[in-house]
Amino acid sequence: MIHIQKAEESRRDQLELEGLEFGKEFSDHMLICNYSGGRWGDAYIRPYEELKFPLSLHALHYGQAAFEGLKAYRQLDGSVAIFRPVENFRRLNRSAVRLNMPEVPEDVFMDGLKELIRLDSAWVPDDEGMSLYVRPFLFSSSHFIAARPSEDYMFAIITSPVGPYYAGDVRVKIEQEFARSTSGGIGFTKAAGNYAGAFYPTSRAKEQGFTQIIWTDSKEHSLIEESGTMNIMFRINGRMRTPPLSDRILPGITRDSILFLLREWGEEVQEGPITVDELITAARSGVLQEAFGMGTAAVVSPISGIGFGDELFEVPTPEQGMGSRIRKALSDIRVGRTEDRNTWMLRV
Ligand SMILES: *Cc1c(COP(=O)(O)O)cnc(C)c1O
Repeated sequence: MIHIQKAEESRRDQLELEGLEFGKEFSDHMLICNYSGGRWGDAYIRPYEELKFPLSLHALHYGQAAFEGLKAYRQLDGSVAIFRPVENFRRLNRSAVRLNMPEVPEDVFMDGLKELIRLDSAWVPDDEGMSLYVRPFLFSSSHFIAARPSEDYMFAIITSPVGPYYAGDVRVKIEQEFARSTSGGIGFTKAAGNYAGAFYPTSRAKEQGFTQIIWTDSKEHSLIEESGTMNIMFRINGRMRTPPLSDRILPGITRDSILFLLREWGEEVQEGPITVDELITAARSGVLQEAFGMGTAAVVSPISGIGFGDELFEVPTPEQGMGSRIRKALSDIRVGRTEDRNTWMLRV
């Protein structure tokens, strides 16, 4: 059951789409659903507003919290569709299980999401390249500071119109001191704490003139894992390569979609370990043809330089390369320009 309380007045007309900063503006409504006494209550869609809570809020102390990120797009025919939301629903619940939180019921997530986007569909920008970023999240909401699992949880969805993501000249540093995740850890979840732990190493890399980090495995720092908060892919000697999923790597839905498209196109794709040595050798000898990050926010983010120790290797960012071909293909599916053969789009 979803209870809907509409905002008296929309704030949409006050929104300036030009120069929109990522994740700073929020649409008229939000969804909230509480878990307590061992069960989920009804879901509520209500005007976006501040909530009140005491400072003993469990999530603030122990970080029992996970989030998702997905996007709703304006179709060429004017309708609105969401990209692969069921995958986000499943992934949120995998995060929930690992973080000892209750799984969110499918109808609360899926019906709630559809209803919310339908209600705020005016917030889905018309311009191609823009979209409505959707942020579902789940956190512990009991009021106590004992270090044990919370008894109460809140699931919520907020949405934010976003412009085309342009990271500029992306230079990444191969990180060999810090790690984002470990075997047996929570790297495969979108746990809030994973991001908290990544900010310091990332800030250090920025001070050194880099845009992002290429994470390596925590044990030997010899395997390439991810790039910042994106999965990573290379074109080496004509072959598309990405590290295999493990409990240290976030299973990106963009990554999955790109692998699917590449295989459909008959490209040679390899999901397998990539060593730092191998990557540096490829960069040095000129067979590293492309490198890019993959994720919901930027979709495909071309990497133009890789720092390793004191060396900086330039990476080609060809205009007609695989990165831009993929970006175009995904964009065409998202706005309904090409047929959605895999039913990735959910119309609201
Ligand atoms: C969210 C995320 C990704 C990308 O996942 P998508 O589903 O493609 O958005 C990759 N790596 C990390 C660490 C992430 O948090």
